[in-house]
Amino acid sequence: MYQLIDGKAISATIKDEVKNEIAKLKNLGREVTLAVVLVGNDPASAVYVGNKKKACEYVGIRSLSFEMPETTSEDELIKLIDELNGRDDVDGILVQLPLPSGINEEKILDRISPLKDVDGFHPVNVGKLVIGKEGFVSCTPAGIIELIKRSNIDICGKNCVVVGRSNIVGKPMAALMLRENATVTVCHSKTVNLKEVTSKADILIVAIGKPKFITEEFVKDGAVVIDVGIHRLEGKKLVGDVDFDSVCEKTSFITPVPGGVGPMTIAMLMKNCLTAVSLNGK
Ligand code: NDP
Repeated sequence: MYQLIDGKAISATIKDEVKNEIAKLKNLGREVTLAVVLVGNDPASAVYVGNKKKACEYVGIRSLSFEMPETTSEDELIKLIDELNGRDDVDGILVQLPLPSGINEEKILDRISPLKDVDGFHPVNVGKLVIGKEGFVSCTPAGIIELIKRSNIDICGKNCVVVGRSNIVGKPMAALMLRENATVTVCHSKTVNLKEVTSKADILIVAIGKPKFITEEFVKDGAVVIDVGIHRLEGKKLVGDVDFDSVCEKTSFITPVPGGVGPMTIAMLMKNCLTAVSLNGK
C-alpha cells in the first residue's frame, strides 16, 4: 500500500513557517520585499505572478509589481533590474519567464544580483549549489527535497535516478540529491534503455515534460516516485509525467498531480525571500 506525498499540506506548513519568521523580522522593524517583474501579456504568466503575489500577502512579504508592455526592449528591462539591484529596500527580484521574443532570457537572469536571485537561476548560485556553498537553490528542486524529508524518507545512500536534465529542474535536482548523499544517475533523451536505469531507482524523480510517460515497467517495487510534470489534457484534467494509476501500487511513496510538487514551488520562493535576508546580512 503506497502513501501519497501531500504537497498541498507540506507547502502550507512551509508557508506558515515563513509567515512566523517574517512576523519576527517585522517585530524587529525589518520588512521583507520581493520585486516581481512581468513583461508582456502571456496569460499563464499573469496567473503565476498573481499566485506569487497572493503567497507574499499571506506570509507578510511586501511585493512590488513591475508590469511592462510586450514591446519592452532588453535595455529597458536591464535598466529596471539594475535599479532594483541597487535598491536597499528590495530583498529579492523575480523576473517571470518566458520573456517576449527579442529579449535574451539568459542575459536578463545573469543581470540579477546573485544576492537577490530568489529563483536561484543565476550561474553564481548554480555554481554554489554544485560546490556545496550557501546560496539560492531553484524553487522546484528545493521543494522536492522538502517533500522527501518531511515524509521521513531517507535519502542517504539511496539510488536516485533523475529523469530530465533541464537547468531549472533536472540538473539542480541531481546536485541536491548528491548533497544529500544519494548515489545519483541523471537520464535524458539520449539515455539508452531508460527502463533498465529507472527500474533500479529507490527514489525516482521525473521531469521530462511528457504526459504519463513513466509506466509501471519503469518503476522498482517499493520505489519513491516524485512527479514534476504538469500537463493539462483536453477536458482540463491535470496529469504528470508519471502514469499515476499504472504506477502507484508499485511504489512506497508517490506525489500526486495536482497537489504534489506543484504547490511547493511558490512555498520555496517564499522561503528563498527569507534566505535573501540572511544572505544580505540584514
Ligand atoms: P525541459 O523540457 O526543459 O526538459 C526535459 C528533459 O527531459 C530534458 O533534459 C530532456 O532530455 C528529457 N527528456 C525528454 N524526453 C525524454 C525521454 N524520452 N527520455 C528521457 N529523457 C527525456 O523540461 P523542464 O525540466 O522545464 O520541466 C519538466 C516538466 O516539469 C514539465 O512537465 C514542466 O511543466 C514541469 N515543471 C513543473 C514545475 C512545478 O512547479 N511543478 C516547475 C518546472 C517544470 P534532453 O536534455 O536530452 O533534451
